[in-house]
Amino acid sequence: MSKLLEVKDLAVSFNTYNGEVQAVRGVNFELNKGETLAIVGESGSGKSVTTSALMGLLPKPAGFVKSGQILYQGEDLVGKSNKEMAKIRGKEISMVFQDPMSSLNPTMKIGNQIMEGLIKHQNMNRTEAYKKAIELLDLVGIPNPEIRAKQFPHQFSGGMRQRVVIAIALACNPKILIADEPTTALDVTIQAQILELMKSIQKETDSAIIFITHDLGVVANVADRVAVMYAGKIVEVGTVDDIFYNPKHPYTWGLIGSMPTLDSSEDELFTIPGSPPDLLNPPKGDAFAPRNKFALEIDGVMEPPMFKVSDTHYAATWLLHPDAPKIEPPESVKKRMHGFAKTGGDE
Ligand code: ADP
Ligand code: MG
Repeated sequence: MSKLLEVKDLAVSFNTYNGEVQAVRGVNFELNKGETLAIVGESGSGKSVTTSALMGLLPKPAGFVKSGQILYQGEDLVGKSNKEMAKIRGKEISMVFQDPMSSLNPTMKIGNQIMEGLIKHQNMNRTEAYKKAIELLDLVGIPNPEIRAKQFPHQFSGGMRQRVVIAIALACNPKILIADEPTTALDVTIQAQILELMKSIQKETDSAIIFITHDLGVVANVADRVAVMYAGKIVEVGTVDDIFYNPKHPYTWGLIGSMPTLDSSEDELFTIPGSPPDLLNPPKGDAFAPRNKFALEIDGVMEPPMFKVSDTHYAATWLLHPDAPKIEPPESVKKRMHGFAKTGGDE
């Protein structure tokens, strides 16, 4: 597999009146060609800040990359000027945001909005760009594309708008498509359709996808690999099977345990108590320890390194230390893991 993107020790902070908010605190991951990586974690864990850094879109001057590298095809994007990033955005790496309305111009016809990037990045003339815009609308499943191209965003439903945003993001054949909670604003049926659409487009275009969500449940069907994020760090990473059938981090157990299942009405949910730490003063030791009923003494003193579980699977928890007590996931979590084992693999 060829590496498209390699993020190394990325740290992102914000200067605020109260001090430095350490939103992302040393994140490492890589993305291969044609692969879908899901980044999952509670709200506030640093998912959007990470993607903003990738796109060179941190709010300035408060937000800044404190350290680390973002290697896109071997070239570091950290420190690139706005002008240089503008050439990469849309063309090489493009993004679909949570709220489609905020990324569409309400006063501009849909067709023209898709044509803009094609004219700017692909040197197309208007006739070529129009033809391609119609093809894209068709690709994302919008019926009667010639008529729809002449309409304005308010004439589209929420799901159809999100399809338009995906069409714009795909216009210049980006190698990486970042989707930051692209479906949370949509109802469940439409969510499923949009996710299916993204998968089918990926098959056709061979683009890599970074799929950001707070909902572990949607990930099983769309991702190849999953990175679990907590308090500005990746605490576990692995293939979908690693994460759902053999999770090692108690935070991942919590995410799995709090997913609703069809037959879980009577049994207790293994939820995560408390709330994430204050990133103005990140805790010493393991940031998850105060919420972790399996925390060890060392968690309060020293941060756990990433322990290797297998070639594809790593987790940052002292429970994986050879001297740690052997602790199994709680029953309610195991039940859900088995639930996935039953329903999984029916593609
Ligand atoms: P997620 O996308 O995982 O829900 P974010 O990446 O948006 O979380 O936020 C991570 C952390 O960064 C949060 O603690 C948030 O308060 C902080 N943060 C995000 N944007 C800013 C900002 N503009 N100024 C200060 N702190 C910020
Ligand atoms: Mg977010």
